[in-house]
Amino acid sequence: MKYDDDINLCKKFDLHGRRALVTGSARGIGRAIALGLAEYGAQVIVHGAAPSGPLESALEAVRKRSPSSFSVTGNLSDAGAPERIAEQIKHHCPLPDILVLNASIQYRTKWFEIPHEEALKQMQVNFNASLALMQICFPLMKEQKWGRILTIGSVQEFRPHPDMAIYAASKAAQENLVRNVARQVAVYGITVNNIAPGVFATDRNEEALSNPEYAKRVTDCIPTHTYAEPSDAAGAALLLCSDAGRYITGANLAVDGGLRLPG
Ligand code: NAP
Repeated sequence: MKYDDDINLCKKFDLHGRRALVTGSARGIGRAIALGLAEYGAQVIVHGAAPSGPLESALEAVRKRSPSSFSVTGNLSDAGAPERIAEQIKHHCPLPDILVLNASIQYRTKWFEIPHEEALKQMQVNFNASLALMQICFPLMKEQKWGRILTIGSVQEFRPHPDMAIYAASKAAQENLVRNVARQVAVYGITVNNIAPGVFATDRNEEALSNPEYAKRVTDCIPTHTYAEPSDAAGAALLLCSDAGRYITGANLAVDGGLRLPG
């Protein structure tokens, strides 16, 4: 066999010339992914549900790494939000060729008490909006024969929390969609993958994890005995959004300190 030893790995991670929409990047994991992609040269479209201080501050941090980045807003539980987000993007640049579907909502309710509206809202934000944004961005990715779609799932795909039945189901459904679409679009140079985070120290967990007894019960279940920081997801996202990950598709990459493992 003749080897090409010039693997040029740094270049394969480079994202200059790429445009990345990261939903829910005003805070938490999405913010860290946005910063990571910007650091490697992508023009990043930072997104929040509505204009806010965190959104402004995330954009400022992203722009320090990638000055042409900008922000859009839209509550993904509203009908037509994905289309309106796409319209905002088109005022600045063509639609993104990297799509990171990170925004989600979750409610804690016993499964036998979940109101219909609450179930619908979670499915709308966590699944339907992801599908709509994938459909909106697919034609450009197909035309240019390059695209990256990355969904952010959850360890709850494997270990559903008893009081978050719909959230867990929405993440499992999204991951199933990833495998389905990955097979169909691979021929166009588009990869579709999922990251399944474990327990991250972000705003949504702040209240629960500030209870020391609860926090200890949680960390006792994690093989590393620690939570993740938002930036722990950024390296995995960079791999799956760059040419370094061009042969990875339909994958589900757990970033969970081993939490999904039986034991
Ligand atoms: P977070 O800190 O709660 O931030 C959520 C982001 O999503 C915010 O920017 C928020 O926008 C946006 N968002 C929420 N509801 C929205 C809506 N209806 N429409 C549009 N945007 C909305 O979240 P996180 O903890 O970083 O989680 C990020 C992803 O990882 C989520 O998909 C979550 O399910 C998944 N995950 C997280 C953990 C964890 O331990 N944190 C574990 C497993 C999976 P605003 O800032 O405008 O409110």
